[in-house]
Amino acid sequence: MKRSYLLIALIILSACSDSADDSNREIDTVILNDLIQHSTEFEKKVYSFENGLHIAVGYGIANSIMVEGVDGNIIIDASDSVAEAEEVYSYFSTINSNPIKAIIYTHNHGDHTFGAAYYYNLEVEKPMVIAHESTSQYVERIMGILNPIISKRSTRMFGTDLPSEQVINVGIGPYLGVAQSPIGYIKPTLTFADELKINISGVEIELYHAPGETNDQLFVWLPNQKALMPGDNIYRTFPNLYTIRGTPHRDVKSWVKSLDQMRALKPEYLLPSHTKPLTGDAVMETLTIYRDAIQYVHDQTIRLMNEGYTADEISHLIELPTEVSNSPFVREFYGTIRWSVKSIFNGYLGWFDGNVSNLDPLPSEEYARRLVTLSGSEEKLFLALEEAVQEKDMQWALQLSDSLLALNYKIDSTNKLRQEAIQYIGGRSLNPNKRNYFLSSANELNRNYEAQPLLPQTSELLREISIDMFFEILSVRLNPKKAKGITQRVCFLFDSGETRTITMRNQIAEISSTNKNCDIQVKTSEQTLKESLAGVRNPVLSVASGEIDTGGQRTKFLSFLSNFTE
Ligand SMILES: [Zn+2]
Repeated sequence: MKRSYLLIALIILSACSDSADDSNREIDTVILNDLIQHSTEFEKKVYSFENGLHIAVGYGIANSIMVEGVDGNIIIDASDSVAEAEEVYSYFSTINSNPIKAIIYTHNHGDHTFGAAYYYNLEVEKPMVIAHESTSQYVERIMGILNPIISKRSTRMFGTDLPSEQVINVGIGPYLGVAQSPIGYIKPTLTFADELKINISGVEIELYHAPGETNDQLFVWLPNQKALMPGDNIYRTFPNLYTIRGTPHRDVKSWVKSLDQMRALKPEYLLPSHTKPLTGDAVMETLTIYRDAIQYVHDQTIRLMNEGYTADEISHLIELPTEVSNSPFVREFYGTIRWSVKSIFNGYLGWFDGNVSNLDPLPSEEYARRLVTLSGSEEKLFLALEEAVQEKDMQWALQLSDSLLALNYKIDSTNKLRQEAIQYIGGRSLNPNKRNYFLSSANELNRNYEAQPLLPQTSELLREISIDMFFEILSVRLNPKKAKGITQRVCFLFDSGETRTITMRNQIAEISSTNKNCDIQVKTSEQTLKESLAGVRNPVLSVASGEIDTGGQRTKFLSFLSNFTE
């Protein structure tokens, strides 16, 4: 999965369809040149500073930082996989092989947490795992109820199913490596709400909750070294104020506030969790430009919202002032202004743009039918699609293909043209999120496409996730057709002494800890139930073997579980 710069020449060629002529190839080279150049930001290297700070850049999507203490070291962000962590540490340990005393997560994302088990398992005396108090809840949400959709959209955004030569970079790193080895997330063992001041192995460390790229984000401040680790609240591209893989609303105003909190400390070293470190005057200058860029987009979006413009209109109206846009830190290699505007609008006003046409619009199938009536026939619409593709009017082609697909018209041919349009737009996009999302979506239209699991689950990982998340997963998996007319209560008694109950009625599954009037009483361990529900072990065998003890009601229990399947 390692990417070689030699492959970049191939990318330019493969970005063009077979039918593309030479002039098209030249255009691609020019457009993509900046993105290719941006990859130099992730050249694999460990930067070491005289004050015991070391930062590994380019080993995976996110950086890992080692702080040397007197008799032990601290790791800030643990890479996106156990394999990456091992590679990073094979270098770090040549600098200082003292035990790892603590692992700090700057936030919940997998590229900062999934390699932790490597460091954790190295030590007999287990390191502390420090994070904000809400971090585990967000990890569980991604590993739990949102796993299917977040995995799918992340696969697209990071291009993890694409042939490696098609991924130039992923904007904030060379590639996402989470699927390279089992997920090594370790649940935090020390958490805090607003701030935590702690001395670890002789190093004074201050941690501050700093919502921005995520709500659980923190930054690390080493007062004696004047060194700042801002997590993902700053990296060398326009910030991802919204991420297209899907995210809860990112509070942009708090993001600015968090950057101001960092500026107030007047740091001399900036070791971000993505892209290269900065030192000296560049630190304050960059923090200032970055917060100004974010504030500008936030404030101008609100100003135009108040003038009555819709999110879509505003997204085409806002451009950064030149003084700000000249900074290499705000080029749109990760977030974009257009997507940010829509997210800010949505964060304040919700999805309704205020236009009455859009409150209860025609369903897409009905809209397509009216479009067919206007154009004369479905075939006319299809010819318009063919023409749009031929004329390279590709966004229009995509929208036409939406309507034809809504009517199930010539599905194979429509999808073939749609695939060409997606490849064309994606292959020319300077933004790697968009580029990878499009190229991956085009890939999915291939007949032989098979998705590879992005977040494979293991027994070790399941131990780090609370039992409550598994009941939440069951709740959102309830198939209402199967559950229609069923009223049933299943009570779980775990060997830990914990109880949980599912009451099924009105095609919902209420989760509680009531342990009365149970139709089925189940006794098992939390881990057995987790593994059975996650597919790590076969639930039928667990029930048959009595590891899940149903009190003699095996068939009834398995039939109950079948309500949670498609
Ligand atoms: Zn990150």
